Amino acid sequence: MIDYQIPGQRKLKLSLVEMIRNDRLPHALLLSGDPGFGGLSMAINIAAALHCDEGLGKACGKCKSCSKSFKLIHPDTHFAFPVVKKADKKRDETTSKDFLAPWRSIIQKKQYFDHQDWVSWIGADNKSLNINTKECNEIIQKLSLKAFEGRYKVQIIWLPEYLGKESNRLLKLIEEPPENTKIILVSAAIERLLVTITSRCQIFKLLPVEDQALNTYLIEKNVFDPETIEKVVKLADGNCGLALQFLESSAKDFSEDLLQWLRLSYQAGSHPQNIVDWIAAMVGQGKDVLELFLTSGLSFFREYHIWLHDQNYEMRIDSSQKGNAMKMQQIISYDKIEYITKELDSLVTLMSRNANMKLALLSSSIIVGDIMRKQ
Ligand SMILES: [Zn+2]
Repeated sequence: MIDYQIPGQRKLKLSLVEMIRNDRLPHALLLSGDPGFGGLSMAINIAAALHCDEGLGKACGKCKSCSKSFKLIHPDTHFAFPVVKKADKKRDETTSKDFLAPWRSIIQKKQYFDHQDWVSWIGADNKSLNINTKECNEIIQKLSLKAFEGRYKVQIIWLPEYLGKESNRLLKLIEEPPENTKIILVSAAIERLLVTITSRCQIFKLLPVEDQALNTYLIEKNVFDPETIEKVVKLADGNCGLALQFLESSAKDFSEDLLQWLRLSYQAGSHPQNIVDWIAAMVGQGKDVLELFLTSGLSFFREYHIWLHDQNYEMRIDSSQKGNAMKMQQIISYDKIEYITKELDSLVTLMSRNANMKLALLSSSIIVGDIMRKQ
């Protein structure tokens, strides 16, 4: 069973409970926010709360219905999400139904994940991910039937931004769903949705989780020591998915790597082989590690930037990183950080587009080296 606790989002949870208990939940909801803030978990929880035998406005987590909900097998909760062509099927014949097994397993295993985690989970390619016509027709068809067990039918659509123009097919459904039907869209890129869709939904924004709530949540998971958790919470910046990812790679401290990268980039002109070797080793550790390196580099610089401006500022980094920040002071001035951050930012973007990261990192290293050598 998945963990039905969601850290943070206190206000949102309270108002949802209130709405469900009083039967005032809108028929079309749009949960918007970074996947690491827990939108999908929230949607699963709302569905569970609607089906729960106790009728408390939230999922009791103990009854038969909740058990099914959290095993993701409740017959009245339907999922639709972007997929790719299934091996033995045509693309336009393939729908979420064909990927239900990996869908259940990624939720059970990771709980927080984005489209990239999803494509690598199903061993697919980013480019072909979408929600197609057949899927839309199936959604309409399924929701026209009566609920099997409970009162409500719930349709969860994860990443509706992958509907593209197909979303027009769902307009009528979203505007006026059949009786006792709730449609929950979980979007990580609300700006990519058609206004015709967003205007028909009640929008609920998920927020970064407060440090305290994230800390308590991770401690309750009871797998990691408080020190590691504290370190991770500072790095994660309210993103629960990121925090769990950091914990998975045992909260590796990347500030040493960051410093090394800057040093080698600085010397790239005179010792090009060293930076090439370093990049090969970094990229060789896999996508997850590289992503962690880049994102923790970004949060490190963000903190460092504020601190350079105001040295009374308490950086949200741990003591070993602080030591490295002091060292960095000798090589990077305030105005250079902006440029280096921009490079890290573009590397993150390139990575999400499946670029050749060895080449991308090499070109960024040369740029960063130039920036640092400039007086
Ligand atoms: Zn229950």
